[in-house]
Amino acid sequence: MLPSPFEFERPSTITDAVRAFGDSGDGMFYSGGTELLLAMKLRVIHTDRLIDIKSILGLDRIALTDANDIEIGARCTHNKIARDPVIRQYVPALSSLCANVANIRVRSVGTIGGNLCFGEPHADPPTMLAALDARLVLQGASGTRLVHVDDFIKSELETVREPDELLTVIVFPRPTGPVTYRRFKHGERPSVNVAMVWSMDAAASTITSARVRVGALGSRPQPLKGVEDALRGLSVAEVRPAIEAVLPTALDELEVNEDRHGAADYKRHLARVLLLRNADEAIAAGWSA
Ligand SMILES: Cc1cc2nc3c(=O)[nH]c(=O)nc-3n(C[C@H](O)[C@H](O)[C@H](O)COP(=O)(O)OP(=O)(O)OC[C@H]3O[C@@H](n4cnc5c(N)ncnc54)[C@H](O)[C@@H]3O)c2cc1C
Repeated sequence: MLPSPFEFERPSTITDAVRAFGDSGDGMFYSGGTELLLAMKLRVIHTDRLIDIKSILGLDRIALTDANDIEIGARCTHNKIARDPVIRQYVPALSSLCANVANIRVRSVGTIGGNLCFGEPHADPPTMLAALDARLVLQGASGTRLVHVDDFIKSELETVREPDELLTVIVFPRPTGPVTYRRFKHGERPSVNVAMVWSMDAAASTITSARVRVGALGSRPQPLKGVEDALRGLSVAEVRPAIEAVLPTALDELEVNEDRHGAADYKRHLARVLLLRNADEAIAAGWSA
C-alpha cells in the first residue's frame, strides 16, 4: 500500500527543522524511516508533511566532552554507534547492543533517536540508556529542555515529546564501573531485557550506586529499586547473595504486560535469569573503569 499524499521538506539546520514544523502546523520528523514509513504505508500513521532531518549537520556526532559526559547525536544509526571508537572504549556493552539490534538493513539506516521517539516497548536502547542515566535534549519552538530517559516514555508508543520538538542529543555520564546488558528474544525484537550499571569506589572496592532497568516487560523500562538499594555499599563477593535475597519481591513489583512474548510469570523468570547473568558479568569485569 502507498502512504496518503504528503509534502516533503529537507531543512539543513535544527532551527529550520523546528520552524518548518511550526509553519505547517502539522508534520512529523523523518529520520531513518524504518518505523515511520512502514506505518505510513500501512496507513496507521498519517501526516501532511514529512520533515527530513538527514541533512542537518552535527546530529550524527559522538563525543566525550570535557565534563566527562558522552554525547550521541540523535541521527546516529545503530551501526555508527556500534563502530564508534568512543563508545567501544567507554561503553562496549552499548556498542554490542547496537551491533545486535534488528537486522543489518535496519541497523544501517535506523537511528537511536527514532528508536527512542517511536516509544516501542520491545526495544533495546531505552533500557540501557535509562540504566546509564541518560538525558535527552529536546529542541522545539518554545526552547530547549532536558528529559531523563526514565521520564521520556509515557506508555506504549507515547512519549513526553511535543510534536514540534526535535530530539537532538543523548547525554550520559561516562561510566565508572561495569555496564552490562542481556536480552532474550523470540523474534526480531526483545521479549525481555535487563541493563545494569554500577558506579564504583575503586579504593574501597565497593559499589557506590547501582542502576538496574528491566525493559520490554511493561510499557517502558522499569527500575528494580529493591536490587539497586541492596547493592549500594557492597563488595563484589556480597553481590550475588544480596541480589537473590531481594529479587523475588523486586520482580513482583514490576508492571508486566502479557502478550505474544509470554505470560507474566514466564517474563519475570526471564528477567531473573538475565539479571543474574548481568551480575555474573559485572563481577567478572571487576572494578576497572
Ligand atoms: C524489522 C525490524 C526489527 C527491529 N528490531 C529491533 C530490535 O531488535 N531492537 C530494537 O531496539 N529496535 C528494533 N527495531 C526498531 C528500530 O530500532 C527502529 O526502527 C529504528 O531505530 C527507528 O529509527 P528511524 O531513524 O528509522 O526512525 P523513523 O522511522 O524515522 O522515526 C520513528 C519515529 O520517531 C520520530 N523521530 C525520529 N527521529 C526523531 C528525532 N530526532 N526527534 C524527534 N522525533 C523523531 C519520527 O517522527 C517517528 O515518529 C526494529 C525495526 C524493524 C523494522
